[in-house]
Amino acid sequence: MQWQTHDISNQVADLQDYNIFTSDAVLMTSLAQYQADWYQNTLTESGLELGSSAVLEAAALANTHLPELHTHDRQGKRIDRVNFHPSWHQLLGILRKQGLHASPWSQPRMGAHVARAAGYFMQSQVESGSLCPSTMTFASIPVLQNEAALFAELKDKLYSLEHDPRDLPIAQKKSILIGMGMTEKQGGSDVRTNTTMAVALGAEGRGQGYALTGHKWFFSAPMCDAHLVLAKTEIGLSCFFVPRWRPDGSKNSVLVQRLKDKLGNKSNSSSEVEFQDAYGVMVGNEGRGIPTIIEMANLTRLDCVIGSAGLMRQALVQAIHHARHRTAFGKKLADQPLMRNVLADLALESEAATRLMLHLAAALDAPDDALQRAWKRIMTPAAKFWICKRALEFTGECMEVWGGNGYVETGPMARLYREAPVNSIWEGSGNVMCLDVLRAMERDPEGLQLLLQLWSSSASEQVRQIVVELQKDLAPTEFREMNARRITQKLVLTAQAFLMAEYAEEDIGLAFVQSRADAECGRVYGSLHGQATSALLDRIISRSFIY
Ligand SMILES: Cc1cc2nc3c(=O)[nH]c(=O)nc-3n(C[C@H](O)[C@H](O)[C@H](O)COP(=O)(O)OP(=O)(O)OC[C@H]3O[C@@H](n4cnc5c(N)ncnc54)[C@H](O)[C@@H]3O)c2cc1C
Repeated sequence: MQWQTHDISNQVADLQDYNIFTSDAVLMTSLAQYQADWYQNTLTESGLELGSSAVLEAAALANTHLPELHTHDRQGKRIDRVNFHPSWHQLLGILRKQGLHASPWSQPRMGAHVARAAGYFMQSQVESGSLCPSTMTFASIPVLQNEAALFAELKDKLYSLEHDPRDLPIAQKKSILIGMGMTEKQGGSDVRTNTTMAVALGAEGRGQGYALTGHKWFFSAPMCDAHLVLAKTEIGLSCFFVPRWRPDGSKNSVLVQRLKDKLGNKSNSSSEVEFQDAYGVMVGNEGRGIPTIIEMANLTRLDCVIGSAGLMRQALVQAIHHARHRTAFGKKLADQPLMRNVLADLALESEAATRLMLHLAAALDAPDDALQRAWKRIMTPAAKFWICKRALEFTGECMEVWGGNGYVETGPMARLYREAPVNSIWEGSGNVMCLDVLRAMERDPEGLQLLLQLWSSSASEQVRQIVVELQKDLAPTEFREMNARRITQKLVLTAQAFLMAEYAEEDIGLAFVQSRADAECGRVYGSLHGQATSALLDRIISRSFIY
């Protein structure tokens, strides 16, 4: 009996067993610019591992077999434990062995933050959920380093390169992960409304034990070994190190109420918790909880930028791969003039996002330099606003390159698309980032001037013109707050134009600057015109994914 109804053709094979690093010319050639080329060999090995079919399969499995909450054991005792598919631990193990949770702190050297950003950018192309606890651990370390006694206990376990998934007191673990808990039901952006209370168990103040009572409405990665949590004392909002287990070996009363049923970021468990006299140690000074935890938030915001740039890069690579192999109307999609315009425009956007995130990471490598501090303090929230938002439209456009196959769950595009919004929301949503940019510029006017001077020194006449336009928007007016998005958008586009003109290949940089400064270029990808010759479009596309 012959059941076959048709031959299968023109379906594109999965993109797998490719090197995520060596196929990315922008990333590879940027390392030397930031004195991070010593990391090249590690990234080459990691790029091969991350692009392997085995790791890509693990990423898909971790997002199909979702975390499960078990509040009680068989006998009815509270355990508040989340069980994961083994693939989740495999992914955390890969992040950990490369030191992406700690390396610039454990092995500081020139280019360390750029090296780590490059590794993180590659990992984010494979799976996003597992980045969350790694980021929070990374960002908690500078805060914990300020607490000598506590840090002495934690240091080796924080820096360890071995993932230890066991649910045990910290003293018994080889390595630990740290999360953060700020957001409550009545307000996330406005943490001043927090109601969770902390009462001293004995002596009061920094380094002392407290009992916390209250809740957190969003509390990601509750299986972390501890969280940095905001709670109020009589003096004000303070920061506490709240472990899963108390020092006496009993389980701390951090009660996981339920897991969030999320749009994306499925592999990562995000929970709601209640604290019932939960044990915590005060970190930082009493009443200074917000400045203490903001140091952590500034780093998590940079990781949102890196993560979104990574999502864009992976969506681009998948779109180019598909277009190179799928035929429509007698030609490969990648050979159709209009599709080439779409792909090249996407590639320009992705390159600008990659260059900006690397530049921001490099700013962390030079904390004593006033210009680099301005990149960090003013441009990190600006980039968090812009790049995380661009990722939404960008992943949707790349999905469309796949046509109907992009919309179904049997390929990678649906997950990339669902993954995109979260970076824009958590760690400070869009408006909050723009207001933070205004605040940062007001607090550091000299830093802003240094940025403007740098951008004005561009060899590109067009970039210098963009800076002149930007300065008109920076003049103080009564509408400043209302215009915060407009100002932030211009700041980022100016920074990206400067970086593209300075570091990209000349005609590619020019294509970015011209198209982003040109009001006639449309608001959707694929609207390059005039300056973009067919040969240039080809070169942008072929150079952006070398495979
Ligand atoms: C998947 C996920 C995981 C999370 N994990 C954690 C976690 O582990 N720990 C944690 O502490 N939090 C976590 N969060 C919470 C997240 O950080 C908050 O949702 C976010 O900061 C926004 O706070 P909110 O939800 O209370 O919204 P709101 O503060 O109510 O803000 C709503 C909207 O209003 C805007 N807005 C706020 N103030 C202003 C203003 N003055 N002017 C103009 N617009 C304004 C915001 O930009 C936002 O768009 C998580 C969130 C998600 C989605």
